[in-house]
Amino acid sequence: MRAIYYETFQGPVSVEQLSDPAPAPDGVVIRVEASGLCRSDWHGWMGHDADIRLPHVPGHELAGIIEAVGAAVTRWRPGDRVTLPFVCGCGRCPQCASGNQQICDHQFQPGFTHWGSFAEYVAVQYADVNLVRLPESLDFVTAASLGCRFATAFRAVVDQGEIAEGQWLAVHGCGGVGLSAILIARSLHARIIAVDIDDSKLTLARELGAEIVINSHHSPDVPAAIREHSGGGAHVSIDALGSPVTCYNSIAGLRKRGRHLQVGLLAPDERDARIPMGPVVANELQVLGSHGMQAHRYPQLLAMITEGTLRPEQLIGRTIGLDQAAEALVTMDRFSNPGVTVIDAFA
Ligand SMILES: [Zn+2]
Ligand SMILES: [Zn+2]
Repeated sequence: MRAIYYETFQGPVSVEQLSDPAPAPDGVVIRVEASGLCRSDWHGWMGHDADIRLPHVPGHELAGIIEAVGAAVTRWRPGDRVTLPFVCGCGRCPQCASGNQQICDHQFQPGFTHWGSFAEYVAVQYADVNLVRLPESLDFVTAASLGCRFATAFRAVVDQGEIAEGQWLAVHGCGGVGLSAILIARSLHARIIAVDIDDSKLTLARELGAEIVINSHHSPDVPAAIREHSGGGAHVSIDALGSPVTCYNSIAGLRKRGRHLQVGLLAPDERDARIPMGPVVANELQVLGSHGMQAHRYPQLLAMITEGTLRPEQLIGRTIGLDQAAEALVTMDRFSNPGVTVIDAFA
């Protein structure tokens, strides 16, 4: 198969011819039809993810068609159209037993713990626990965004944030996760404040439903601006980028009993970011992590998409071929294309 491949962190990335994968007994091999590029792929290539063993094939948000099925798999057949969460739970540990496959003790993560989907084929373990059947009406490029950023945003906004109609949501960072959060919160009739340093991303955020946009380059005190626009602070706030500044601003912009959601990953040397613990205590703020979304929560998300309440295709910026993906991956921290980039040609 053709695949994006690297042997060293921060080293060359190229398209190589590799051997086709075979399914594990509890796994499947998926012919990849679409795979989104995510900032986590860039973090992986930078060497920020301890799960990655070299050499490596990245890619973790995918949609495709099952090509081959392991002997122990009962729910799936070749030809099924599927996607999956980027964190696949084992189905047997205490976390999975409690319904929290997104924090499984024995995670399978395509593109992190194992080779991923910037390739013609990807092997996925724990298939019966994690695969999600795609509605016929959902195309692969749109579906590819569900594996990571859209599902991650859905869990953050709906399950962890519990945003309600009329409440204020502040979104710090308008990349894939941030824009997804805006779309989802909008469909739930929340009011949205979007923060970024890039006017083109803020324009897109406004088109997708943000009522207020703040360019933090031109706004010296972002938390104060949020508190002013929302009449006291956001009910729920998301750091969708992952940086000490956005994390701090997100928490500092909350109203009393507000909820901060840390979704964006911080670089290794920034992980002990400063948290304004004064207001956390005095205002009873909640500081929550949010990590992907379990497969059994996809039906609600897919129902909102098929009935047209949610349109994740609005987030797609451009589609590229595998040959362009290496360049797109290594320049991810620099390129400012608004919206999501999806690989949709692999041969
Ligand atoms: Zn991702
Ligand atoms: Zn598990």
